Amino acid sequence: MKLYDTICALSTPVGTGGISVIRISGEDAFSVVKKIYIPKFGKNFEDQKSYTVTLGNIIDESGFMIDEVLVTKFQAPNSFTGENVVEISCHGGMAVVKMILNELYKNGARSATGGEFSKRAFLNGKIDLSQAEAIIDIINANDEYNAYSGENQLNGILSSKINEIREILVDTVSNIVAVIDYPDEEIDDLQIEEVINNCKKALNLIEDLKSSYKTGKVIKEGAKIAICGKPNVGKSSLLNALLKEERAIVTDIAGTTRDVIEEEINIDGLKAVITDTAGLRDSDDTVEKIGINRAKKAINDADLILFVIDGSNKENNEDIEIATSIKDKNVFVIINKTDLDIKYNTDTIKNILPHSSFIYTSAKSSGGIDELSQSVKNSILDGEINIKDNIYITNERHMEELISASNHLAEVINALNGGVYPDIVTIDIENAISALGNITGQTVSEEIISNIFKKFCVGK
Ligand code: GDP
Repeated sequence: MKLYDTICALSTPVGTGGISVIRISGEDAFSVVKKIYIPKFGKNFEDQKSYTVTLGNIIDESGFMIDEVLVTKFQAPNSFTGENVVEISCHGGMAVVKMILNELYKNGARSATGGEFSKRAFLNGKIDLSQAEAIIDIINANDEYNAYSGENQLNGILSSKINEIREILVDTVSNIVAVIDYPDEEIDDLQIEEVINNCKKALNLIEDLKSSYKTGKVIKEGAKIAICGKPNVGKSSLLNALLKEERAIVTDIAGTTRDVIEEEINIDGLKAVITDTAGLRDSDDTVEKIGINRAKKAINDADLILFVIDGSNKENNEDIEIATSIKDKNVFVIINKTDLDIKYNTDTIKNILPHSSFIYTSAKSSGGIDELSQSVKNSILDGEINIKDNIYITNERHMEELISASNHLAEVINALNGGVYPDIVTIDIENAISALGNITGQTVSEEIISNIFKKFCVGK
């Protein structure tokens, strides 16, 4: 365990609230706090047992009381950072927080940089790198899926899987090296077969993780959904119905939605970024043209397109043109305005989009909106996902390392199948091991570590 200087920072959000928590960590955390804290009920701070809380006052150098606080003590190494840690829960006003931090600075602590507490936890072996990244994910999670996936990663589910794969490969390399160091023992076919099998086993486990990234990416970044259709069919109204609030401008003048409106929505726990595109019609209006170009891009990038049709009108050429332009995409056809008489014959559209689901809604009365949400979620997640028990790779950095590890192992397997001796391929197996180690931080460089912790805010 390394000893570092003493740092402090506000760990709760900046602003006014019931309480604020100031965290202090480092070699002198206890002696710094002792100078500014007088517990009530007789005890000295140094006699306070680890993992207990006391009530007392923070005072300035003249003995003037700054605030009545609760102080929790964590004795190293059993703390978040692995160092001596104190948490001061004070009243949640910015002046009080500032005054307490000032007293801590005067008595030897310095202001922590972004992510410094978590970085110390990593450097002291309390968490590995993927767990540190999980802390950022949990802090940033706005929906259940991201929260659960972050908590899983923090609990070490990903780390254990990575370590399991690394162990297979470390064993394999050790066996090869042992045989080389004892040249009297020939490497026979059986052992080569064993090396190949072990590499295949590791590769399969890596491929399983890699295949979860498609869903993991959607969980992390949100599914991209575009709403399109000719003007006045109810696209903005549908977006509002899905958002359950009035956000897009709804009027009955065709061509009102001039630009692309982007909204983040939560569909039963799943994050989705939904864009309401300008009506896809030819226009001479310069502003509308820009909107139409942006709409085309949104449609191109979308994981799912909601193509809205006005069911209260007859079929028309504009709809056919739009349907044709999106026929290679993942499309739901929404027949809207079901609260009115339905006059639309969907046969032609069905012919153009034979694989699309047809869903009937009334954006006005919210009819069919819950069913639409459910179908969107099922389509994007490819059925139900088990976020609580399964590993989903959500981090691009992890995915890159998995790709690198799997490429190295594929080369190893190819080479061995082609008759290359195992000692030649050890370097590739070692490369795969270090790619996996980069995920958990076992072999990672200082530069990567610094980059990761820069993403944290101060106090974490
Ligand atoms: P957009 O141009 O496709 O975005 O269409 P809007 O959402 O602006 O709606 C155009 C008009 O259709 C407005 O007057 C809406 O109130 C009306 N509208 C939208 N959805 C429905 C619906 O489900 N039923 C009925 N009766 N009117 C609707």
